[in-house]
Amino acid sequence: MLLDAGLRMSILEKVGIYSARFGIPEPRSVMSTREVLDLPREITEGRRTSAYKYLGVSYLQHNLVFINVKKIPDEKTLENTIVHELIHLRFPYLSHGRRFNSLVRKGLSGRGFKPYKKRSRKAG
Ligand SMILES: [Zn+2]
Repeated sequence: MLLDAGLRMSILEKVGIYSARFGIPEPRSVMSTREVLDLPREITEGRRTSAYKYLGVSYLQHNLVFINVKKIPDEKTLENTIVHELIHLRFPYLSHGRRFNSLVRKGLSGRGFKPYKKRSRKAG
């Protein structure tokens, strides 16, 4: 898809809506490989020059998502990618698989999730 101001705005809107539904703080969103490369290396470490290969990348430690608009062919894939990346933020311990996909489907169909609570760490 072509990233213009209108599309950028609509992506930010969707990210905002889904973040609220998923009980997560709204992440910062970048939408081009240029923006990924402009980020500090410590943020994008490990998925920097490879980011262009994916439809989206989430940088969990930094509450940041990359939506690779250029690589996304249509509106449906865009929505899928946004929800996919936000599910990573909401369920950081979960890797790809059946449960992950099921949560993506629920998210796409309008389901909300309670905020994620980190387990309190014991001292030492
Ligand atoms: Zn993923």
